[in-house]
Amino acid sequence: MNAATEMYGVMGNPVRHSLSPVIHNGAFRRMGRNAVYLAFEVTDLAAAVNGIRGLGIRGMSVTIPHKTAILSLLDELDDVAAKIGAVNTVAWRDGKLVGYNTDWQGALSALEQKTVLQGKRVVLLGAGGAARAIAFGLKQKECRVFIFNRSLAKAADLAAELGFVHGSLASVETLDADILINATSVGMAPNDGESPLPKKILKPGMTVMDIVYSPLRTKLLQDGEEKGCRTIDGLEMLAHQGAFQEEIWLGRKPDVAAIREDLRRALIEKHSVSGDPPNAKNGFPLTADR
Ligand code: NAP
Repeated sequence: MNAATEMYGVMGNPVRHSLSPVIHNGAFRRMGRNAVYLAFEVTDLAAAVNGIRGLGIRGMSVTIPHKTAILSLLDELDDVAAKIGAVNTVAWRDGKLVGYNTDWQGALSALEQKTVLQGKRVVLLGAGGAARAIAFGLKQKECRVFIFNRSLAKAADLAAELGFVHGSLASVETLDADILINATSVGMAPNDGESPLPKKILKPGMTVMDIVYSPLRTKLLQDGEEKGCRTIDGLEMLAHQGAFQEEIWLGRKPDVAAIREDLRRALIEKHSVSGDPPNAKNGFPLTADR
């Protein structure tokens, strides 16, 4: 680092667990770019956005709980981010701070590595921030989407906005789908023995994506593997959404496979530091493609 080092970062709270520095510092290093990416634990969002302006920070990721509140603090919004109502990426365009959303692109890229989306029947579990971004992406691919959520009203609102169908999590058993996406936090450590769905709903040939990435091999994905489904873990979406962020900031897409490997290594380290050694249950050892 020196006086010419470009600064990037992520704003969230809490943010100490964030894997975004792993994604971006590794990518900057491989590109030979004199840049650094830091994690900022932000309580005063307006002051932090002024900090981006005042310090000339080149680009910023935005995570929970600031993805919605930041909308009104930026100069402009990309069309899709405005429709989704959430920003996960901030960049400079012609002297203005512009908000983007790459979560939906990350999810679609992760899915499209394993299946064709156009016209498919998709069960989407969840109606929170991530589910909302994914639902907007699925709409662009003309998927027929059924949204299920614990809080029915949130599922109803999201489904109505996009012309999709909704239901309560309890009613999901009656549905047949080509693709199933878990965008709830069910299955996330420390509740990693939980799945949002009974195993009997999963069918051979179905594509099952879980966006939870801690652990990587969630109960839902283990069940899916046992039932002969194609499975996609949460690291895929994470790696791709980060790659799209780099493209927005630098006009150049980084090597997604290398990002994926950096993330896997970081997660292995995290498990060994936490005293929870890598094993089949928490998702390790891992193969790059399941
Ligand atoms: P969020 O806005 O807080 O939404 C949480 C969702 O999970 C809501 O639909 C919520 O239902 C549901 N939920 C929480 N606890 C539940 C329970 N016990 N039973 C049933 N449903 C439950 O969070 P988010 O930002 O959408 O994130 C959701 C998950 O996705 C997190 O695990 C996050 O780490 C992960 N994520 C991954 C990526 C990636 O790149 N892989 C990106 C973003 C997020 P209610 O509406 O009923 O509360």
